[in-house]
Amino acid sequence: MLNAREAVKNLQAYRPPLAGRTGLRLDFNESTVGCSPRVLARLRSLDSELLARYPEREPVEREVAGFLGLDPAQVLLTNGVDEAIHLLCSTYLDPGDEALIVVPTFAMYAIFAQAEGARVIEVRAGENFAFPLQDVLARISPRTRLIAVANPNNPTGAAAPGDVLLQIAQAAPQAALLVDEAYFEFHGETLIEQTRKIENLFVARTFSKAYGLAGLRIGVLAGATGQMAMVHRVASPYSVNAAALAVLPEALRDQEYVGGYVAQVLRNRERLQQELGYLGLHYWSSHANFVLVRIGSGHAEFVRALRDRGILVRDRHSDPGCEGCVRLTIGTDDHTHRLIAALRDLVEELGLRTGFRSEVRV
Ligand code: PMP
Repeated sequence: MLNAREAVKNLQAYRPPLAGRTGLRLDFNESTVGCSPRVLARLRSLDSELLARYPEREPVEREVAGFLGLDPAQVLLTNGVDEAIHLLCSTYLDPGDEALIVVPTFAMYAIFAQAEGARVIEVRAGENFAFPLQDVLARISPRTRLIAVANPNNPTGAAAPGDVLLQIAQAAPQAALLVDEAYFEFHGETLIEQTRKIENLFVARTFSKAYGLAGLRIGVLAGATGQMAMVHRVASPYSVNAAALAVLPEALRDQEYVGGYVAQVLRNRERLQQELGYLGLHYWSSHANFVLVRIGSGHAEFVRALRDRGILVRDRHSDPGCEGCVRLTIGTDDHTHRLIAALRDLVEELGLRTGFRSEVRV
């Protein structure tokens, strides 16, 4: 009988709720408007020759490196940040090693680390999801080989200061520190330049969120040259498809489009948070394109009622420390207006008012 590896048998299947997503998609932190029209035009111009060839990543990597202000040897394009996480786990984790994460956080760190046979050490975030620096430092051991931090974090929207993350890199030179900047464009702070100097620091970025290209599957992993050469060894040369490579330079060139969308999201983040305060719903001030809100015991009913009104949001009740919480993605003025109108109705209809009026700053 064929047996999967023990580590794989112990994994729980991860199935994000992708079925039947019709309506206003505020459930996966995607762009609510999609990519730049210039990117779409480039995509439409592709021919069969391009598809017949194996994709060539390097010329596009040079452009991305130029855009990020890094050397080309520091940059690897990946099939989304998901692949970047997978590659780091394959490169650095042996069975029995420890991978340290701060929870609640993005699910894929634990999944890919466990698949390598590593032990996942979960450190709980502090009060109001503040980054628990002292607890993280205390859990670093000689076996710690990977530390993954989403910054800003998903699903909380909390951000850790750069100097705090650098302290961790310094305290664990035997570990790869992944700073996952998937939501960088909505936050504006980055450690990417530090990858030139800090050997165990990796920074990941994605084109799935602000650039509106989640379906194309393209992300970037940046690190120190010597370490990136190791990561390259476990990477497929073809994991980023030809269509994604063909349109990426156009996406980078149309910064006006991305900047315009990000500006709308930031404006609406303020507007939505203010409204949540008025409605007496408890939320955590966000650095990303979503807000985590505590609905309470009616969370599932709330998600269902929004779906009935054509708005999809994500129930995060099962994440550690997120009991009764729902995550709302922020989009354009119109999308936020629709969300707010529905929230006003539901607070009355479902009797959701928690009486908590002031916002919580993290
Ligand atoms: N990192 C974080 C923190 C995320 O929230 C997500 C998407 N939900 C990803 C990575 C995945 O990004 P990609 O689409 O580039 O694989």
